[in-house]
Amino acid sequence: MEFGGHTPCVEIRCGERLFIVDAGTGLSALGAQLGPSAPKDIDILLSHLHLDHIGGLPFFKPALLGQDRVIRTYCGNLEGDSAMASLDRLFAPPLFPVRLGQLPARFEHHGFKAGQPLVFDDGARVETCLLNHPGGATGYRFRHRNRSVCYISDVEHSEPWPDTDLVAFIRDADLVIYDGMFCDSEYTNCRGWGHSTWQKGVELVQTAGAKALAIFHLYPGHDDAFLKICEAEMQKNMPTAFVARERQLVTLEAEEEPAAAAAEPKAVLAKA
Ligand SMILES: [Zn+2]
Ligand SMILES: [Zn+2]
Repeated sequence: MEFGGHTPCVEIRCGERLFIVDAGTGLSALGAQLGPSAPKDIDILLSHLHLDHIGGLPFFKPALLGQDRVIRTYCGNLEGDSAMASLDRLFAPPLFPVRLGQLPARFEHHGFKAGQPLVFDDGARVETCLLNHPGGATGYRFRHRNRSVCYISDVEHSEPWPDTDLVAFIRDADLVIYDGMFCDSEYTNCRGWGHSTWQKGVELVQTAGAKALAIFHLYPGHDDAFLKICEAEMQKNMPTAFVARERQLVTLEAEEEPAAAAAEPKAVLAKA
């Protein structure tokens, strides 16, 4: 009820520039919130194609608004292939009644290899890394006006931990959104499922000197009371760590220039 039940979808704003990371069921709520004023071109950066990260795509309102809309997906864990073949297979009868190609907006699907930076036509640039997950997943780092936000989900922690490449990737970030699906106490039963624990998240960001941690991609069986206990525990070690709430808004004010509300990078957690 408090932390939310949608699957992953995060809105990142660098000034006015919109990025959407993952297209889980939270994408439907985000689309409704953006409404007709949504940008005509929208970039959706996918961590990978497991169902919980793409299930919101056909319910994304901007895709219904007209043929002048373009929705681009980016997928980095298929050796350079795009998400097109997989999405066309899933969103088609008998698994789903409507194909993405039947929606008014035009979908474009781009593939890249996780580790390569993404460079967009407007000059925006996003760094990426490959994550330890069954079939791979892509982590993202956004930089804007001396601030940076990392999205690290889905990821299983390696032994030894923390992983040195991941530490380097998130070093000194202002906020890390991290897959803390489980707790260390329950982890022995969940090894190999491709997820991490909030304790390992705290260890990772503290080693990397990152300033804040949002624990994200919560296990559906954990209720509000349990998550509040986890949050109190993690804050003993790291006061700036928290369990992300659905629709929570985090604003990182620019370091040098005076605060100008319209130009601040923001991360909206459409899914906790
Ligand atoms: Zn996954
Ligand atoms: Zn997932």
